[in-house]
Amino acid sequence: MLVILIPDTDENSEEYKQTWKHLSSLEKIRLKKHKVQGRGQGLTEIYLIGNTAEVNQEEIESLPAVERVVRITHDFRILGRHSKETGSIDFEYNGVRFNQDSFHIFAGLCAVDNPDNVERMLQALQENGQVCTRMGAYKPRTNPYSFQGHGKECLPYVFELAGKYGIKVIAMEVTHEAHIEEIDECLEKLGRPTGVMLQIGTRNTQNFELLKAIGRQNTYPVLLKRGFGISLSESLNAAEYLASEGNNQVIFCLRGMKTSFNEPHRNMVDFAHLPIVKRLTKMPVCIDPSHSVGTRDSSPDGVLDVLHATSQGIISGANMVLVDFHPSPSEALVDGPQALTLDELPKFIEDTKITRDAYKKRIALWK
Ligand code: PEP
Ligand code: MN
Repeated sequence: MLVILIPDTDENSEEYKQTWKHLSSLEKIRLKKHKVQGRGQGLTEIYLIGNTAEVNQEEIESLPAVERVVRITHDFRILGRHSKETGSIDFEYNGVRFNQDSFHIFAGLCAVDNPDNVERMLQALQENGQVCTRMGAYKPRTNPYSFQGHGKECLPYVFELAGKYGIKVIAMEVTHEAHIEEIDECLEKLGRPTGVMLQIGTRNTQNFELLKAIGRQNTYPVLLKRGFGISLSESLNAAEYLASEGNNQVIFCLRGMKTSFNEPHRNMVDFAHLPIVKRLTKMPVCIDPSHSVGTRDSSPDGVLDVLHATSQGIISGANMVLVDFHPSPSEALVDGPQALTLDELPKFIEDTKITRDAYKKRIALWK
């Protein structure tokens, strides 16, 4: 059961104390408080955990600090969209707003290789009005002998250059709890020239200890990739692990599924699930067309397959696009075959604008 308090309720007020006292007196029910900083107001939600079947809903609704009570009948307690709930997870990080209506492109390097390529990438982003990017420092690789990423060694120049080119948020995968500390220490040392969104890769979607560790911190928002070989519900539960530990600034990323029928795509593009994730949960949803499609092929109409897939996600309301670019794809150390080139960036952005506008027109039609 979820108890939503009147916005901006002060925890020192009589109303709050009386409400908390009553809820604490409920037998065999554990309370978990959750604070959400919404647009202009602070919301407090209290989760009643245990067997709430016997709890009198009307009695709780009549408590002085309570706005409403939602009976949660299915999974995803915090991130799920429960009966009559509207709105979405809505947060601002380093000046960039994320919710189920926002739209941002995170174009960048799958893996950081050298300062020169990082700089060329970031400069191109700035020239094209972008403030977000992706930069892989810790790379989980199928083959133990493949390049594993430069790790913490590359963080100083990546963060410094990001600051130089006005980048506000870098999506960066972490594969171990220790990486959070490494990122945090480096950013702190440099005076936080940029921000980081911690990315959890598809191979770690169910690494529960990593999820819990990332969920325990609130400094960085999280981008969780859907597990490529598990059900959607299992991946959404993985996102809930983050929220259950206290961090609900979570964006869910569709990145294609491993099946025996995905060929000639690298993974089976699953962007048709995008509206379903929005219906089942309040999370903003990202798409990763690069890891889904996996090639630089284009169709006879001249449009890259990666862009066709991107459009399919955006036309259904994607809130974010994570996409691989590289100044020289043939020299990239990871995933070169799917990287777009810097001279393709302006058209890529223009194409997403066309589709995003079409999506807006579509929803206006159905309002
Ligand atoms: C990535 O985005 O660099 C990546 C490794 O993606 P995924 O976890 O989806 O394979
Ligand atoms: Mn990759």
